[in-house]
Amino acid sequence: MRSFKRLGAELILSAQGLTKIFGSAPPFVAVRGASLDLCPGDKAVIIGRSGSGKSTLLAMLGALMRPTAGKLLLNGADMWSFPEEERALYRSRQAGFVFQFPSLLANLTALDNIAAPALLSRAMEPGRAYAKAFDLLSRIGLSGRADSFPGSLSGGEQRRVAIARALINSPSFLLADEPTSDLDEDTEAGIMALLEELQASEGFGLVLVTHSPALASHAERVFEMRDGVLETVEPPAPRAAPAPRPRRSAALPDEPRLPPKAPAGPQAAARLGAELWRSVEPFAFWGAVMLGGVLLANFGAAKYQENHLLEREQRKAQMADMALSRLQAEVQSVEDLGDGRYELVVSLRNARGDAPIYVMPPDMRAYIQVGKVWQEVPVEASESNPGGISKIEGKSDFRYVFEARVKDFTQLLPNYMHVRFSESMLVSPSRMPRGDVFERKDNFYVYLKPFDIANEVILKRMKFPGKPPVWIPMPPH
Ligand code: ADP
Ligand code: MG
Repeated sequence: MRSFKRLGAELILSAQGLTKIFGSAPPFVAVRGASLDLCPGDKAVIIGRSGSGKSTLLAMLGALMRPTAGKLLLNGADMWSFPEEERALYRSRQAGFVFQFPSLLANLTALDNIAAPALLSRAMEPGRAYAKAFDLLSRIGLSGRADSFPGSLSGGEQRRVAIARALINSPSFLLADEPTSDLDEDTEAGIMALLEELQASEGFGLVLVTHSPALASHAERVFEMRDGVLETVEPPAPRAAPAPRPRRSAALPDEPRLPPKAPAGPQAAARLGAELWRSVEPFAFWGAVMLGGVLLANFGAAKYQENHLLEREQRKAQMADMALSRLQAEVQSVEDLGDGRYELVVSLRNARGDAPIYVMPPDMRAYIQVGKVWQEVPVEASESNPGGISKIEGKSDFRYVFEARVKDFTQLLPNYMHVRFSESMLVSPSRMPRGDVFERKDNFYVYLKPFDIANEVILKRMKFPGKPPVWIPMPPH
């Protein structure tokens, strides 16, 4: 069988008579026989009123939703005749999505959000993923906001990050569903200019869904969706003189008024080069990987229109629930053993004791932040840890000894080290797992008191009721 993996760069995505019918009593035809060809470099704009079927068509083009009839072909190969893994590969490597709703992960930084799909799909090594994410960040004009969380970014900035995230795996096709629907007109124009600029440099095929005819004026191909029927329309010519524009939400497809061409995009920041590679290589970020589950859930949200989940996906969801919700992990204690050695106790708890959970002994790594780099320090599992597969019914403790003798560590809290423990373990509902294994990864962050800084020195900068604590837990980040 041909695999999408082996298809060359010259791709043609071809929708042939795609139809989607929801429900049965009575059936509702959301999309009726839509056909469309797209090559890398092409731009197709789909306009249409709300509820006309644009998002449904886009979900089918992205193989997120199975058509009721018709075919989605990639270089002539029928995507729905392949096993699910192949479609997953298409979704993660060939197609980039910018959703209608804000979809950044709130607890990841802008940089982590962009890098996450590359890490999750294992498309590249973490070092490369972060180098590419930095590069994209500078190209969307946000290189200074790498460490910002989505909550602190404006709507337009968030949308830029979402676009960069969609491009991290260098997709052949970018599917953007009303990427500016909730933005003001200037921001909208900036985003459109950015999309054009990125398309010119990256060469992806773009399908842009919008309910604003203004945005269609740049496209060589414009389609209009009317009650589920996709029709070719003449691209509206851009107006020469800027006129006072009606509110964007009032700009329905059949309105003749068109806003002016979008102004030039953001200052393209200089491409980050080889220097960057060196500086990000040591980043072995597990954080984004751990939050992968959340991102996958996000993709799940994109599949919200599917009426039923495949049984296998339900099983996977149950597995994820068991491994991520029922099994709780936390740092129990950190004890100073002297001379830079510390004992870490991590406890695993089965939140609902009704069914046992089996785990392979967690693999633990420890990192201390030095500048922008997480420096790994030695960790050894205690011999008192249960060997082999452990059955977790109530609470079980796992002990590790790590060494923290690091110079010039970053001090988020005066005189304290910023430490990350990264744990990974295989979790299963059965003692003899057969395919029903989930790999769970956790990051725990603590402030740690260095062994060679006297309590008095710490107390000069910070107040504690008694002696300064050896460790202070931090919220996940
Ligand atoms: P648009 O993106 O153009 O606003 P959509 O593709 O979201 O339109 O929806 C097209 C029509 O299909 C709407 O009437 C919507 O209510 C309906 N629809 C979308 N998803 C579902 C679903 N999962 N079940 C039933 N009807 C749906
Ligand atoms: Mg929609």
